[in-house]
Amino acid sequence: MHERPFIVGNWKMNGTRAMLSQARAIDRAAQNLMRAEVALAPPYTLIHPVHREAAQIGVGAQDCHAGDEGAHTGDISAAMVADAGAKFVILGHSERRKAHGEKDSLVRKKAGAAFAAGLQVILCCGEPEQVRDEGTAQDYVTKQLEASLPKEIERAGENLTVAYEPIWAIGTGRTPNVEEIGAMHRAIRKVLVERFGEDDGAQIRILYGGSVTADNAAELLGADEVGGALVGGASLTADTFIGIVMAAAGGADSAAS
Ligand code: PEP
Repeated sequence: MHERPFIVGNWKMNGTRAMLSQARAIDRAAQNLMRAEVALAPPYTLIHPVHREAAQIGVGAQDCHAGDEGAHTGDISAAMVADAGAKFVILGHSERRKAHGEKDSLVRKKAGAAFAAGLQVILCCGEPEQVRDEGTAQDYVTKQLEASLPKEIERAGENLTVAYEPIWAIGTGRTPNVEEIGAMHRAIRKVLVERFGEDDGAQIRILYGGSVTADNAAELLGADEVGGALVGGASLTADTFIGIVMAAAGGADSAAS
């Protein structure tokens, strides 16, 4: 298991160059909070500027196309975001699944393209509220994950992170409780171990995402098998995001190493 929690901010469709000051402040704080690994996924237009200025934080994209190049107006390939400085890409976010009709099969193709371009992948999965109410959330999420993992990948290790994000918890201020998160993360771990084997499957980080704040981060990150957080709204200002990173890191380091 990774020792350092991985805290990733997803800026979604927020941020112009004026927001680079927030990224700089997050980067400075991360240098003193080395017990957590910190990353930002800004919009495409800010990947290179954030990458150029960041000394400590990782930078990623929020999506990529499944193809290498060609006549896809408005799309961006995995190699392009890597060239801009992205180290990872978030794929299968519920907002893309909903607003762009992305199915597991497309997410799987995108993940294959991202790995081929040398990117790490943060693969999102999560159930809608109705499924949670019906009591079938674990079945839904594990099937979604299995169907979204590229078949040709034999080893995942550092290259794959899974983010469990219940759709009903995103941007709502509601979260599952610690037991519910732990149970889902254990079910996800089982899928990963079955798919990649004991050693490799145990290495893959599983993040929780959905209404994480500085106030609830320590509790949610303490749930079983939680290796970090994917943070939306609270990652948009350095103050709110650093609060979460501090909670994850267990306080400021005495000296950055
Ligand atoms: C997200 O959309 O990935 C997310 C976790 O959003 P929020 O933190 O705002 O709930």
